[in-house]
Amino acid sequence: MNVLIVYAHPEPRSLNGSLKDHAVAHLQRQGHSVQVSDLYAMGFKPLVDASDNTAQQPGLRFRVSEDSQQAYRDGTQRADIVAEQNKLRWADAVILQFPLWWFGLPAILKGWVERVYAYGFAYGVGEHSDQHWGDRYGEGSMAGKRAMLMVTTGGWASHYAPRGINGSLEAILFPIQHGILFYPGFEVLEPYVLHRTSRVDEAGFAAACTALEQRLDGLFSDAPIPYRRQNGGDYLIPELTLKPELAAGQEGIGVHLRAD
Ligand code: FAD
Repeated sequence: MNVLIVYAHPEPRSLNGSLKDHAVAHLQRQGHSVQVSDLYAMGFKPLVDASDNTAQQPGLRFRVSEDSQQAYRDGTQRADIVAEQNKLRWADAVILQFPLWWFGLPAILKGWVERVYAYGFAYGVGEHSDQHWGDRYGEGSMAGKRAMLMVTTGGWASHYAPRGINGSLEAILFPIQHGILFYPGFEVLEPYVLHRTSRVDEAGFAAACTALEQRLDGLFSDAPIPYRRQNGGDYLIPELTLKPELAAGQEGIGVHLRAD
């Protein structure tokens, strides 16, 4: 199978760099084809701007979504965007690998999402009407593909527990796993997480690699997070709120998980 790792760390000799190298070697040993988008090494441009549409007329107002749509439709996107979209088309599974920085993605990886996820490619897909709010949240251009986060944190696991001071990791990663991955159709696996990174010594690194190998071995067989599909009948249309009889009396991100 084809695996794309989108990797965001500025230092190849970092813990993340070592984990990335280990993941690539392990996946290749299992017979998978692997591509890595090493965003810092590529000097990936993270800022959305008018130059992303090579047909942008000088002096015209830059309209971010509309220009993205037009460039995608007319084949006038910048080459670096097209290359990353082609890698996504090629991949059967996508891994986003990053250190947790300020409770989210490093800016370069957020910029990759903003530029590569073009209008018509990752959003604005499918019929949009009061009866059908597009093909998204379980449908869309990435349907049939799998995705997983590989995340390291300075904080301890307990800091990210449901009652931990940082808020639960599930809640912190929800915008990425549900909003960035499930939205265009990926089946999202539970994340691979390595906490308390400053304490990782040789033994800790070996244990982290073993745990990582197990997760990589399940990339195409582990059950995904059971997010509810937008067009699966669980939501009122067009309000897009969960039907009142489902998870009755409950609120919060947990209601978007199927109980079965
Ligand atoms: P490194 O610093 O490269 O390494 C960590 C440890 O692993 C070191 O002790 C190193 O010796 C060891 N190591 C590295 N490679 C190996 C190897 N091959 N074998 C054995 N040991 C090895 N943390 C949070 O929890 N929440 C946040 O919101 C948050 N925000 C941050 C914001 C910024 C801007 C920064 C810089 C850090 C933040 N952190 C946060 C901490 C951050 O998540 C960790 O620093 C990061 O996950 C560590 O990953 P690294 O690859 O940079 O590790």
